[in-house]
Amino acid sequence: MSWILQTNDYKQSFFSHDENRCSLKQRTLSALKKVLLFWIFAIASIVVPLLHFILVPGFLIGGVIAFRLHMRNTHYLDNVQFLCPNCGKGNTQKKFYFFSGKRIRCSHCSHQASIIATAS
Ligand SMILES: [Zn+2]
Repeated sequence: MSWILQTNDYKQSFFSHDENRCSLKQRTLSALKKVLLFWIFAIASIVVPLLHFILVPGFLIGGVIAFRLHMRNTHYLDNVQFLCPNCGKGNTQKKFYFFSGKRIRCSHCSHQASIIATAS
């Protein structure tokens, strides 16, 4: 299986050949790290006067949402380089989790593209 990037106006570019499925354990550990980060911010924001009424529940709920979004990922790449289908410039991502249909944004032109699995 290989992966391509496709914009809304059907411009395509190559993304990756790797078939690197991540295990449930790997996904869960990575998602728990994100939750922990959100909840550390929640605990730290307890001492902020007045704003703690918004920040503490916001970070607690944000952690749960981040966990659920991260658990959707099915594949993992240590290091990925790809060309934006819109502007053609190179982008680099490290420790990148993704699934078929995930949308990513080009760091140069801010154009969004979907990661799509292909059979070849
Ligand atoms: Zn671009």
